[in-house]
Amino acid sequence: MYDAIVIGAGAAGLMAAAEAARAGRSVLLLEKMEKAGRKIRITGKGRCNLTNARPAEEFMDHVRANADFFNVAFSEFNNRATIRFFERLGVKLDIERGERVFPHSGKAWDIANALTEYCEEHGVEIMYHTRVTEILTLGGRVYGVKYINRRGFERKEECENVIVATGGVSYPSTGSTGDGYTFADAMGHTIEPVRPALTPLRTSHPQREYLNGLLLKNVGAKLYVDNELRQEEFGELGFSERGIEGAVALRVSRAAVDALIDQKRVKLVLDLKPALDADTLRERIRREMADMQPEEFFAELLRKLVPKNLVVPLAKEVDFHSKSYISKLTDTEIERLIKILKGMVFPITDYAPFEYAVVTAGGVSCDEVNRYTMESVKVKGLYFAGEVLDIDADTGGYNLQVAFSTGRLAGQLKK
Ligand SMILES: Cc1cc2nc3c(=O)[nH]c(=O)nc-3n(C[C@H](O)[C@H](O)[C@H](O)COP(=O)(O)OP(=O)(O)OC[C@H]3O[C@@H](n4cnc5c(N)ncnc54)[C@H](O)[C@@H]3O)c2cc1C
Repeated sequence: MYDAIVIGAGAAGLMAAAEAARAGRSVLLLEKMEKAGRKIRITGKGRCNLTNARPAEEFMDHVRANADFFNVAFSEFNNRATIRFFERLGVKLDIERGERVFPHSGKAWDIANALTEYCEEHGVEIMYHTRVTEILTLGGRVYGVKYINRRGFERKEECENVIVATGGVSYPSTGSTGDGYTFADAMGHTIEPVRPALTPLRTSHPQREYLNGLLLKNVGAKLYVDNELRQEEFGELGFSERGIEGAVALRVSRAAVDALIDQKRVKLVLDLKPALDADTLRERIRREMADMQPEEFFAELLRKLVPKNLVVPLAKEVDFHSKSYISKLTDTEIERLIKILKGMVFPITDYAPFEYAVVTAGGVSCDEVNRYTMESVKVKGLYFAGEVLDIDADTGGYNLQVAFSTGRLAGQLKK
């Protein structure tokens, strides 16, 4: 009989299994996919932003739900400890802009492989293509799991400690399909409503189809909910068939999604020229116009100010045809152009589904989990770790750290 069964070989499950095995426990790790860390391998655009090196207090500001709860796991195994941990495993790391930490190789699989090998070295037994279907309990205690093995047969394994590290429901193709919520619900746990977070936002802007493929490197963005300023961000933002994405859009998406669910009016107002105030922008436009021939098109003036995809949408918003001569441009139209460049409004009417969401907000209520051990307060021997819990954070390496810290603590099995 094993001392612990871990369900899910993602960031949290691998860390939990390794920690339990390191302390001399016999551990069985059950993973329904063909290999470990499928999601880790696609993180950070294939480079894996594994944590963020900011000081602890600043780090906590980026945890959006249940930061107090998470703080205990984080103090036991924080971002510095994570950096040391991977460097000891031989993975050289770099700290990049925004204190984001990546493997020096630029390869996310180095992180997934290092964790998997670390588990194997400590004797964790890993079974792939093995889907847990039920957690067995009796009299408020865990006594094992039922699973379907790689040959399709149902099996039972008895064990007094089960760690649920099944992730959320985002990017389900990586194996995270929300099974942990079903298990937790069946054992009487409250599941906070799950919704996509860090997900592209959909706009009803009439010219949105012109914008597909547009990437804006330095943009100011203000999120308004029912006309009240809710969040202000600066950085990169892009448009694709998935919606408005990029770091800025993802950062505001959590508040936007919640507001949309509450049926509030949401808009994103973009400052396309954040480095210039209105007066400087006016001077710049006048200067550009002075250098142009009167019979040059408005489109050519716009091209000097913004990327190509924005030319037609801007011309339409200014209500001055892109193929009209700049000599015909009135002061009123120039003022309108300045206003739009400093605040182009994108009504947000929807958001991309879980298939495109980087993380899942909501999940197993932290109120029913002991923050010092990650053990359920309802069922003895049942532990939770990672995204299955109602904890989510900003982009920047924070979510993997949540998985590593909670996984590490759960793997200590109450000490
Ligand atoms: C595209 C993308 C990019 C991201 N980039 C970053 C980044 O750069 N930095 C960052 O901090 N975060 C990033 N994240 C978020 C981060 O990857 C997750 O928060 C983190 O991986 C969660 O880890 P986890 O172990 O809790 O869950 P998961 O990684 O989802 O692992 C859960 C595991 O459980 C297995 N499983 C599920 N149900 C069962 C079952 N019934 N039986 C057996 N096994 C089961 C799954 O197959 C899976 O392997 C990104 C996410 C995505 C989708």
